[in-house]
Amino acid sequence: MNMSINGQSIWLEINLAALRRNINRLQQHTQRPVMAVVKANAYGHGIVEVSRAAAQAGAIYLCVARIEEALKIRQAGIGTPILVMGYTKPSKVLEAVENHVSLTVSDWNTARAYAKKTAEIKKKIHLHAKIDTGMSRLGVLAEDGANFCNWITQQDFFHLEGVFTHFACADELSNPVTDQQIQRFNVVLDELRSLGIKPGLVHASNSAATLFYPAAWYDAVRPGIAIYGLNPAPNAPLPAGYEQVLSWKCLLASAKTLPKGAGVGYGHTYFTSREEHIGVAAIGYADGFRRVRDNIALLRGKRIHQAGSVCMDQTLWSLDDLPEAEVGDEVILIGQQGGQTITADEIAALWGTINYEVVCGLTDRVHRIFIDDEA
Ligand SMILES: *Cc1c(COP(=O)(O)O)cnc(C)c1O
Repeated sequence: MNMSINGQSIWLEINLAALRRNINRLQQHTQRPVMAVVKANAYGHGIVEVSRAAAQAGAIYLCVARIEEALKIRQAGIGTPILVMGYTKPSKVLEAVENHVSLTVSDWNTARAYAKKTAEIKKKIHLHAKIDTGMSRLGVLAEDGANFCNWITQQDFFHLEGVFTHFACADELSNPVTDQQIQRFNVVLDELRSLGIKPGLVHASNSAATLFYPAAWYDAVRPGIAIYGLNPAPNAPLPAGYEQVLSWKCLLASAKTLPKGAGVGYGHTYFTSREEHIGVAAIGYADGFRRVRDNIALLRGKRIHQAGSVCMDQTLWSLDDLPEAEVGDEVILIGQQGGQTITADEIAALWGTINYEVVCGLTDRVHRIFIDDEA
């Protein structure tokens, strides 16, 4: 089926039903509600549509990194609770309150600035306190965690809605750091209990911890990559049954036979060694395709290999095995064709990075087509 219904030459197919099923699997596996992480345009999948589908699947929060992302969700008319997990300037507090967006507080100075701001506007802000149990990124150090939460509960215009931490190594299944982080977090929670402070929603687990560390499930889990059906790491793969939500496709824009000795593409980094069939696909680095030399794709159910360098809008391919290929054929960058599959993991390995960066790098000009095989 050619999904290029509006005539795009490059597009993503996002299966929202698969996303909902992945979320349901995570809910069943943990018997906990899911806080769906939809930052970075939902890992490239499209923040508005993914947020709506996640909420339909029962996600109790949508988690983003920046307030702009939260506002985009609200502007689309989605009312699900939203948590901004990253830093928000105190000048944005009013906008957060007005849009029912919960903010993370992860340091004392910002917390004091929020207190001042909310006292001025006389409006209550919903906050999640971030505890640094060993990631050494955002958060007050665990030793100071209970004290910090205690102070938050004493501010007139603060509502402590949650307390959370984040793991550094949960995708390394034999790394003892995760257990240490869980222990440190438990100490903070115990201290809060003995102070009589209600932490609200306690959450910690990214995808890897959601899959592999039941001790880290607490009140809710906070997976990102797994809801998209992508592995947290090659050595921490999803169990069977999870479905890759995204496929990345484009069209063949040229197919022709070149004479022996033709220089191909910018810089002539490739020369035909005989009469050779060369194709051009409508994909370039401006779409998020990395400018390496050895990219692969699927065409007519076969693997094809790059020839020459990736350009801004096009990439050249050796089609010697596919003389029958025609302009307008579908070329698969991520996804399946004729029993062959290319995964985001495989591309990540070629690019020397992780699957997260592959999908987050998909740029805006790549049209997103949302499909729903249950609708
Ligand atoms: C990105 C992020 C997540 C989700 O991580 P995954 O590995 O994609 O599951 C969870 N919590 C925080 C704080 C994050 O920044």
